[in-house]
Amino acid sequence: YLQSMPKCETIEKREKYIGAACQLFFRSSPLKIVRGIAQFMYDETGERYLDCINNVAHVGHCHPHVVEAGRNQMSLISTNNRYLHDEIVVLAERLVNTLPAPLSVCFFVNSGSEANDLALRLARVHTKKKHVITLDHAYHGHLTSMIDVSPYKLNLPGGPEKPEWVHVASVPDVYRGKYQYTRDSNCEEELGRLYADEIGKICNEASQENGGICAFIAESLQSCGGQIIPPDGYLKRAYEYIREAGGVCIADEVQVGFGRVGSHMWAFETQDVIPDIVTMGKPMGNGHPVAAVITTPEIARSFADTGIEYFNTYGGNPVSCAIANAVLDVIEEERLMERANRVGNHLLSRCEGLKHKHRLIGDVRGRGLFVGVELVTDRETRTPATVEAKHVVNRMREEKILISRDGPDSNVLKFKPPMVFTTQDADRLVDTLDRVLLELGGDWMPMPNLKLEVRVTPISNEVETSEAVIQSSMKQGVKAM
Ligand code: PMP
Repeated sequence: YLQSMPKCETIEKREKYIGAACQLFFRSSPLKIVRGIAQFMYDETGERYLDCINNVAHVGHCHPHVVEAGRNQMSLISTNNRYLHDEIVVLAERLVNTLPAPLSVCFFVNSGSEANDLALRLARVHTKKKHVITLDHAYHGHLTSMIDVSPYKLNLPGGPEKPEWVHVASVPDVYRGKYQYTRDSNCEEELGRLYADEIGKICNEASQENGGICAFIAESLQSCGGQIIPPDGYLKRAYEYIREAGGVCIADEVQVGFGRVGSHMWAFETQDVIPDIVTMGKPMGNGHPVAAVITTPEIARSFADTGIEYFNTYGGNPVSCAIANAVLDVIEEERLMERANRVGNHLLSRCEGLKHKHRLIGDVRGRGLFVGVELVTDRETRTPATVEAKHVVNRMREEKILISRDGPDSNVLKFKPPMVFTTQDADRLVDTLDRVLLELGGDWMPMPNLKLEVRVTPISNEVETSEAVIQSSMKQGVKAM
């Protein structure tokens, strides 16, 4: 079904022709996904999986409105942005309208990495400084320039070393980080201040020895670091230090933007700050490669004043812009931010409920449809339950639910589903997780060669607008599965 060769042949060709560094999910038994509809993905046998991790398929896999917009524009023209076209200016205006002043000048690119690379270039040109502060465990992209500021990929055996102009500040993780809730303070603001003061200290040192800080780059909620929600007041104070030092603040919204947090369109708004440069990508094209950098007129002016043209062959092409406009239409028309808030709160409170039942759950945190469940073998010592987390992810896959794990110890279960996720989906996810954790037992400890019975989960009735999307996709010739 929907495949041009049997799975074993795909595996064979993949091993032969695709770089081994490009890793598959579930390496020993990879999934072959041939179709996606709303919050579901289908393998080559027609088996359906509930997708709880794909934050790129923001408005649902293959949303008909987005597909149609891409198809239409493809059949008209796709060219570079040296010609006038309405889609690019409409998209720019719509994005700027979602952002606070003075963020009002857009550059369109093709990926989150490119967006962050351009953000850094803008910051360098504007401040004429070089030093950058990033957070521990952060990931900002795969380009050479981005690996330099991504501790997630730095100093690994055989990997690149951290350059001297990069300064790594502690991730504001109040559960496992340097300053912890309860142990160090019961007050969020106090913890926010402690973490932000580290940024102030780095600024001081850099200005004395090295001629100053160019930029602070951070996700407003750190995803790769393990679904981290910074304490109140953290970014506000951190941004103040950076600006006092003459640097600019870059908010990487590549994962957490476009309403995922439910309460706001952009995650930085949850910390009540206004960055100097915002980068966005992933959900922006619902799977199509389109990304953007939005900055202030002042920074954009410094960039233009260099006299060097900024040209990006595909950045801002009419097809990408039509698709991004269609994604914005769906977010608005299907009120997906409201849904992220409602379903996200439900998911979070159900996960909180599980925490009371399973000692393996050390922490539950999240905002909207961005949720993390941290597994520990001992709540007192907070020892990461890495083996258990791996086991849970694999068992959930057997139950046809796709989740992933992250964090420096790979012990944080991550939920960041398409925004069409329903309360029924959340219930199915949590009920199944409950059963999988029960199988492990209250005092479960790592055991080699663990074998567990595979059970089949009855699939709940998904309702709400995603049902309409599925119906509509079915009408467009999708085989019923
Ligand atoms: N920033 C963040 C926070 C990301 O998670 C990623 C991708 N995982 C990127 C940037 C890079 O985006 P891309 O893969 O589109 O280049």
